[in-house]
Amino acid sequence: MKVLTRDKPQTPRMIRTCSIWRALDVLGDVPTLMVLQAIWLREHRFGEIESRTRLTRALLSDRLRRLIRADVVMKGDARSGATHQEYRLTTKGADLFWVTLMLLRWEQNWCGTQKTFRVALVHKSCGAELVPVPQCGACHQPFDARTVSWAEGPGLGLMTPRYHRRRQRRDRTESSRNEMLFTDAAELLGDRWASLILRSIFTGLRRYDEILEDTAMATNILSERLAWLVEFGVLEPTPVGDASKRLEYRLSEKGVDYYPILVMLQLWGDKYYAAPEGPPILLEHKECRLALDPKVACMSCGEAVLPGDVEVHQSLR
Ligand SMILES: [Zn+2]
Ligand SMILES: [Zn+2]
Repeated sequence: MKVLTRDKPQTPRMIRTCSIWRALDVLGDVPTLMVLQAIWLREHRFGEIESRTRLTRALLSDRLRRLIRADVVMKGDARSGATHQEYRLTTKGADLFWVTLMLLRWEQNWCGTQKTFRVALVHKSCGAELVPVPQCGACHQPFDARTVSWAEGPGLGLMTPRYHRRRQRRDRTESSRNEMLFTDAAELLGDRWASLILRSIFTGLRRYDEILEDTAMATNILSERLAWLVEFGVLEPTPVGDASKRLEYRLSEKGVDYYPILVMLQLWGDKYYAAPEGPPILLEHKECRLALDPKVACMSCGEAVLPGDVEVHQSLR
């Protein structure tokens, strides 16, 4: 472990770049994820998105501007007339469908917040309510963090991290908790530091100094985020060795189950932010020993789900 001294000016530390990281540059922000959820729930006008998310007008305008700049959202005239302008997903934005399904899945599995409305997804080709299952496209078996291995790919590089130091305050989004589809999942994905820690842990790092080295975080930020992830029920500090004070941060079941979200995020990042050399991380499904081609299947019929094949039904409770 490197010892940091105050006397020497430090050269900026580098972290591994990957598609997850590049995707988080766009999506790793709670208000951004709230805006996307509103659009996904067919709120297309500024006022509709505003009342769904309860973000201030200034914050909402800013996030919509950023999403348009990132080519995730576009502003177009409503088909019915030119009076109202609508915000719609671009093709790139619509490709976040798989990430959205995995966020919904995780929220439904682990977070019991009482929503003011109910959303049911229907798999049109079989007619059943869609329970999304992450599945390997090659062998059609479900995959999880334990059955996928990873290796460094040709596009892996190093970069200087830049992110916000402070975790966004929860109370700003508290008022709209019950109005959103996924709140806790957005809270986690919206924090880039937390996502970076989870990336380290999913690649096999467990100890504080290993995670510190991998993420290049300041120690106070790392400690604060680790404590938050433990409080959130995603990590479990586990003593290792005989009578040792050493701790390892291990994933709880809730943490392990978060993995498909990062896989789908990586898939999206690989598609839109790949380095010319190729993908930075290669995933292999251990069960079939082939490169992981992640899909989402319908639990009822077992078929891979296509975006046009899902209907969203929303009703008040
Ligand atoms: Zn497989
Ligand atoms: Zn089905």
